[in-house]
Amino acid sequence: MGHQVKYIFVFGGVISGLGKGIVASSLGYLLKSKGLRVTIQKLDPYLNVDPGTMNPFQHGEVFVLDDGSETDLDLGHYERFIDDSLKSINTTSSGRVYWDVLKRERKGDYLGDTIQVIPHITNEIKRRILAVSKNDDYDIVIAEVGGTVGDIEGLPFYEAIRQFRLEIGKDNTAIIHTTLLPFISAAGEIKTKPTQHSVMKLREIGLEPDFLVCRTEHNNHLNESLKQKLGLFCNVQTNNVFESPDVETIYEIPLVLHKQEFDSAIIKKLSIESDSQDKNIEYLDDFVQKFKAPESKVTIAICGKYNELHDAYKSILEALIHAATKNKIKANIKWIDSEKLESNNNLNSLFSNVQGVLIPGGFGDRGIEGKILSSKYARENKIPFFGICLGMQCAVIDFARNVCNFKNANSTEFNVKTDHPVIDIMSDQIDIKDKGATMRLGSYACQISKDSILHSSYGKESIQERHRHRYEFNNVYLKEMELNGLKVGGINKKLNLVEAIEIDGHPWFVGVQFHPELKSRLMSAHPLFDSFIQAAREYKNSN
Ligand code: GLN
Repeated sequence: MGHQVKYIFVFGGVISGLGKGIVASSLGYLLKSKGLRVTIQKLDPYLNVDPGTMNPFQHGEVFVLDDGSETDLDLGHYERFIDDSLKSINTTSSGRVYWDVLKRERKGDYLGDTIQVIPHITNEIKRRILAVSKNDDYDIVIAEVGGTVGDIEGLPFYEAIRQFRLEIGKDNTAIIHTTLLPFISAAGEIKTKPTQHSVMKLREIGLEPDFLVCRTEHNNHLNESLKQKLGLFCNVQTNNVFESPDVETIYEIPLVLHKQEFDSAIIKKLSIESDSQDKNIEYLDDFVQKFKAPESKVTIAICGKYNELHDAYKSILEALIHAATKNKIKANIKWIDSEKLESNNNLNSLFSNVQGVLIPGGFGDRGIEGKILSSKYARENKIPFFGICLGMQCAVIDFARNVCNFKNANSTEFNVKTDHPVIDIMSDQIDIKDKGATMRLGSYACQISKDSILHSSYGKESIQERHRHRYEFNNVYLKEMELNGLKVGGINKKLNLVEAIEIDGHPWFVGVQFHPELKSRLMSAHPLFDSFIQAAREYKNSN
C-alpha cells in the first residue's frame, strides 16, 4: 500500500476566540518536532471569496502568502509555528467553494444536473481537502474549520468531513474538538455543560470527537474528575481530554500540550511512526524562558489607525516578539493613534521613552498626516524608524516635503492632484477598478544595495518578500531625493521599482515597500525586525 496521509480535523465549540488556531498550529509544531511532514489548512464557512476585502476591524489582518493569496490571519499562525510557506490551497471559504462550483455550472460542466449542497458543494470541499497533499508531500494534514459547531454556514463543511472520514477510513483521521470550560464563581465550579452540548451538536451531524482540548481560565484547571465526567458524557476516552490554560505567550501552548502528552496520544490514535525524539521542544523551552525573563526592555511606538484592534497588526506584533525574545528583550508597544497625532503639538512628550517608531501598512487617508509627522519626528531625532509599506510611503512623503522641498508632495492615493506625486500608481494598474485581488500581491524579488542596513541585516544581496499594495515609489523623483540623502536599500530589477529606502546619516531608518512581518517565524526571527530591535536597544543605551 502507498503512503497514507493522515487527516486531523480541528473544530471549535461553545464560543469563538478560544485559540482553536493556536491549538492547530501548536499541534503542527509538535508533530513536526517528531520528524513528520505536516501542513495546515483552514476551512472558513464565511461567504467572502477571500478575506482580501474584509474590514480589519471585523476580521483582523489580511495575511498574504508567497503565491499572492490573501488569507485569514490564522494562516499566519500556521506558518509561524510550522515554519513553512503555505499555498492558496491551504485556505478555502464557502464563498470560494460556491464560486468555483457555480463557475463550472455556468460552463456547463455538470451537464444540466441539479446543483445541490450535497453532493456538489461537499464534493468540492472534499476535493480541496485532498488537494493539500496531492503529491504526497505530507504525512499529516491538519484542517481547522472556522467558526463554531452549530453555525448554519458550517454545515456543508462538517457534512463533507463526515463523508471524507468514511471514504478515507476513520483510522486515518482524528477529530479534535476545542471547547471552553467556564468557571462560575457563584457556584465555585467549572461547568462542563457547554462542552457537552457542543459535542451533542457534533454527534447530531454524525461526527464524534476523538480528542477534547478544553480552554480553561484563571487557574481553574482541568482535573481528573472533570476529565472523567467529560469523557463519559462526550463519549471520549478520559486520556484524550486535554487542557489549554491561560499562558503568558501563545508559544507556550505547544509545551503545555506536550507535557500532557497530547502529541503522543494523536500519534497513537493515527498509528503513525515517528521519531521518538522531539527535536524542537528544547528550542521552544528556551524561547519561552527568554520571553518570561528578558534582560532589557524597549518601547516601540506603533502609529496606526486600528489601535483598538491589535489583530489588525497581528504579524507585526508576532514579528516583534520573535525578534525581541531572540535578543532577550521585552518589546513594549506604545499605540499611537495617528489621527490624534495630527493635532498633538507636544510630540516630544509623546515620543519620550520611545526607542523605536514603526509605521505599519494601511489604506486610505485617515490619519495619514499623523503618520508623516511621526516619520519626520523619528528622522529628525534619529530614533530607529521602521516603515512598512504605507509606512515607507509616509517616510518618502516626509522626505520629499521637508528635506527636498517638494511642496505638498503626496501619494496619489491621498491626493490625485498633488504637484509632486512621489508615490503613485504603476501605469499598468491604472485601469483596475475592482477592489478584490487587484494589487501587487505575493512574493517579489528584491536586490539589496551594498552598504545598506538591509544588507547587514539580511547578510545577502538577493531576497524575496511579500507584497500587498497598489502604489509605488515614483522613480521620477529618485535622483533628486538621492542627492538629498535618501538611499535606495533595494530594488526589484525586473519591474524597476524601489523596494526599500534608508536615510544617510541616520542610525536606523528603514522603509520597505514589502511586508517583512509576514515571513517572521517562531524559529527564525525576521532579520529586519531583529536588527530594528537591536537598534532600539542601542538607542536606549546611548540616550
Ligand atoms: N495603501 C498603500 C498602497 O496601496 C499601502 C498599502 C499597504 O500598506 N499594504 O500602496
